[in-house]
Amino acid sequence: MKILCIGRNYAEHIAELHNERPSEPVLFMKPDTALLRENEAFYYPEFSKEIHHEVELVLKINKMGKNIEAKFAHKYYDEIGIGIDFTARDVQNKLKAKGLPWEKAKAFNGSAPISGFVPKTKFQDLQNLNFHLAINGETKQQGNTSMMLWNFDEIIAEVSKYFTLKTGDLIFTGTPAGVGEVKIGDVLSAYIEQEKFLEFEIK
Ligand code: MG
Repeated sequence: MKILCIGRNYAEHIAELHNERPSEPVLFMKPDTALLRENEAFYYPEFSKEIHHEVELVLKINKMGKNIEAKFAHKYYDEIGIGIDFTARDVQNKLKAKGLPWEKAKAFNGSAPISGFVPKTKFQDLQNLNFHLAINGETKQQGNTSMMLWNFDEIIAEVSKYFTLKTGDLIFTGTPAGVGEVKIGDVLSAYIEQEKFLEFEIK
């Protein structure tokens, strides 16, 4: 399986990092070794002094497809969860400055903790879905899918132009504003609407 990630999909987050508003979605990938499941702890890596949290809704692909039209995209995922796109911001800033690929900053071991997945039919309106991240009980990031530059169906249409989607692939759909550093000892909790889906510690 593969993990596809969308960058710069929420306008306020683009502004906080002083990035340009993209004319098409920014895409990158993480390997399966990035995954942490079942609330496994995240171990702070030695190569960074600035690990940032990015809470994101995650889609799970349920059938193979490529060049999927947005109007059919809803048939390619029926489950949704939440995850953290951990980013070594210090490493990423150096790579960005040199125009180099982001993998060392984005795709390292444990950089993709994910929750369990639930049927998307659990939610009334996927285009108006609230989610948030709390650290040690304090809310740090809040998002609503209505704020996305590209919605779930448009994301699937875009990524499937380049990458054949296969059953079990995951798509991180971008982070809202409020990204920031995590510290050893922090407990991160991620919610969809008011339900806690994910909780783990930084070690
Ligand atoms: Mg992200």
